Amino acid sequence: MNANDQSAVQARGLHFAYSGEKAIFSGLEMDVPLGSVYGLLGANGIGKSTLMKALVGLLPLQAGRINLLGGPIRQKAFQDVGLLIEQPNIYPHLSGVDNLLVMATYRKTERSRVSEVLNLVGLEEAGNKQVRHYSTGMKQRLGIALAILHRPRLLLLDEPANGLDPVGIVAIRRLIRALNQEEGMTILLSSHLLSEVEQSCTHLGILARGRLAYQGSLEGARSQLSQGLRLRLHCNPTGPALDAMRAAGWKADPGENGGLQLLLSGKPEISQVIDLLRGAGIDIHELIIEEDRLEDFFLSLYQ
Ligand code: ATP
Repeated sequence: MNANDQSAVQARGLHFAYSGEKAIFSGLEMDVPLGSVYGLLGANGIGKSTLMKALVGLLPLQAGRINLLGGPIRQKAFQDVGLLIEQPNIYPHLSGVDNLLVMATYRKTERSRVSEVLNLVGLEEAGNKQVRHYSTGMKQRLGIALAILHRPRLLLLDEPANGLDPVGIVAIRRLIRALNQEEGMTILLSSHLLSEVEQSCTHLGILARGRLAYQGSLEGARSQLSQGLRLRLHCNPTGPALDAMRAAGWKADPGENGGLQLLLSGKPEISQVIDLLRGAGIDIHELIIEEDRLEDFFLSLYQ
């Protein structure tokens, strides 16, 4: 494999199964562009944490090759990568500052970096408090502070918004943006929520059926899917409207609040639907056109 200078993570042909279990991923290819915030998206239990651990050498692959920041995992993982996968290793009876000082000794990082990262994650005022008195969101931010103490170029965060309230989620989102834009870190984060990835990430990879079913920029995903659209209708009578649309070959289904929804391949079909329903003597009370179908695409991968 040629090391690609533009890739922070480059994975080829990855295969992994837990002992005696069926494969979690097989033939998986992944490219995380340098400088991106890459969201690894997938349903609960699909294998996101497993993949993240495998990418940094915490789980042994049965096959495949990985380059991190243009080099093999062994060279790069400790020095240039920061990790927050599952629970952070935190001493609850120590303060946030003392936890960071323990890590600074282990990492041989200068002590002045401790106050720098506390400021970055917004824990400057709580730094001297024992961590057992921290909220979930504060512990999560301390976990990130520990992971970035040694100024990694690549940061892996497993479900960083999990268990946080809306205020905590917004704080983590801002922090991710700041680490990416101000500290220049490439960030690979996992999430099972499309909305979270849409708001935080520049790129996404959707893990489904052991591979990345989509990988690329968020914009690319949106434009790739913009040829189709969804129509929501309220008609009277509803049943004959559904029958008429299905008979005409459209994919129509009952929708919310007694309405109907149907998928069209493009805008010219809208007038055809209206003509069909009017011709059948059906009244249209409401018609809503939705073009953003990233969620449909995401859901379709699980059907
Ligand atoms: P979530 O979104 O719920 O965190 P995930 O996508 O991160 O899930 P993983 O935690 O990677 O998924 O788990 C993938 C599958 O592997 C699950 O079916 C899980 O039960 C299984 N699994 C995880 N760890 C182990 C293990 N140590 N031994 C055997 N099976 C495991």
